Amino acid sequence: MSLQEELVGPPPAKLIVDHVSKWFRTTRQTVHALDDVSLNIGEGEFVCLVGPSGCGKSTLLDIISGLEVPDQGTVTADNEPVLNPGRHRLVMFQESALFPWLDVTGNVMFGLKLKPGLTNKERLEVAKFFIQLVGLEKFSAAHVHELSGGMKQRVALARALAPNPRVLLMDEPFAALDALTREQLYSDIQRIWQKRRKTIVFVTHNVREAVCLADRVILFSRNPGRIREQFDIPLPRPRDINSIQLAEHAGEITRALKGHSTGEVSE
Ligand code: ADP
Ligand code: MG
Repeated sequence: MSLQEELVGPPPAKLIVDHVSKWFRTTRQTVHALDDVSLNIGEGEFVCLVGPSGCGKSTLLDIISGLEVPDQGTVTADNEPVLNPGRHRLVMFQESALFPWLDVTGNVMFGLKLKPGLTNKERLEVAKFFIQLVGLEKFSAAHVHELSGGMKQRVALARALAPNPRVLLMDEPFAALDALTREQLYSDIQRIWQKRRKTIVFVTHNVREAVCLADRVILFSRNPGRIREQFDIPLPRPRDINSIQLAEHAGEITRALKGHSTGEVSE
């Protein structure tokens, strides 16, 4: 693949989650983490999974990534069964898990080791492109300890985007950040997603965050983890987390959530 093709990237993937169930068995108990979950996610769609803690959001994300295997049901990405983790479906977690001994450029280039057929010079070019995309060009030589929490998550985002996955899976990536930093990241991620269309599955327990980002919000309930309801969010982008229209949608989802369960979900 040429450098130019690398910078454009492949088209986003379509995901099909088909009747997925999952149990975790420990010596003390069996947890029914997911019960008959089916979900079609379109090419380039931005979907948020919302629900109280323990409703199976992370488990579903891990199954979509291939890190976990379902007990029943299947996941396919572009009609290929997901059996293992692969470079077309990358996960970004709450903790950025950056390498402290590498600078920003080194961390982003590390993700490109997954890509065969690139010279080191090309890797550097690709890394620079994505560092610029997340707005960190001035910090490309900085080490991890010199970065704020928000900057670390930007590096993690650049590292996840650089190998051009078709699907980006994000598990509460902004949960540990303060509100102002999160707001900045909401506008950045919207801008980046509009520029580099990916299929994104984003887990959060924050309803407003979900409404700010998603085409569709999928509401889960727990014991066992099930899809309860789905909400299309037809608001134009870029969206402002503090807008009244956004609050109206968030209110509707929060009411549905309270009707189904109790739990530590923030409005
Ligand atoms: P969420 O991300 O929505 O908070 P999880 O997917 O992490 O929920 O967990 C769903 C349920 O499965 C929880 O009850 C959790 O304790 C249980 N669980 C998750 N992973 C494991 C595991 N590796 N071993 C045992 N139980 C697990
Ligand atoms: Mg979780």
